[in-house]
Amino acid sequence: MKLLVATGNPGKLREIHHLLDGAGIDIIGLSELNNPPEVVEDGETFSANACKKAIQMAQFSGLLTLADDSGLVVDALGGEPGVHSARYAGKQGDDQANNAKLLMEMENVPDETRRGAFCCVMALAWPDGRCQTFEGRISGLIMRGERGTGGFGYDPLFMVPEYGKTTAELPLDIKNRISHRGMALRRVIPVLKDLVQKAG
Ligand code: IMP
Repeated sequence: MKLLVATGNPGKLREIHHLLDGAGIDIIGLSELNNPPEVVEDGETFSANACKKAIQMAQFSGLLTLADDSGLVVDALGGEPGVHSARYAGKQGDDQANNAKLLMEMENVPDETRRGAFCCVMALAWPDGRCQTFEGRISGLIMRGERGTGGFGYDPLFMVPEYGKTTAELPLDIKNRISHRGMALRRVIPVLKDLVQKAG
């Protein structure tokens, strides 16, 4: 069985390969497609964006397709940055500017109400337009300054209380095990394995 993983991020592709090792699934990345369409992530929810991406790529490729959308949801900011996480400060993917903006917006928020969560939705779509979603989340607290050098995005500002460390300080294998993406992925895997069994 072939599965298109609709991500240009080699780290995510590696993680998915690792989790599906030995499952009898032939995983293909976006780089193996000829001129895939540019999908505009303009949905109001992670789920809407993940499904949009997965369905468009499944229809383009004719393959079962997995896509994800993720971000940081902060209670005191009414759920922001949310679906705008990657471009919170204006420019797509500017982690430093995004973190600086988050610190500024949270400056006057007291310690007791600095809760946030990383959320991830994985969408599995079929070329006929069907789409199934799987969610994962990890709760934490927003720091008052950056700590740690690992990870990416908001990791230096995201404290996991159970570990007393930010996700930028945690070793990658631990982050992958407890993360929103890991949780969503682990929920997709039995469904994929079931499809392989039915196909074979
Ligand atoms: P995307 O789903 O890869 O487009 O990620 C959206 C944005 O959410 C990223 O650019 C980061 O700003 C943020 N984000 C998502 N997952 C993580 C994470 O595990 N750590 C830190 N930031 C994340």
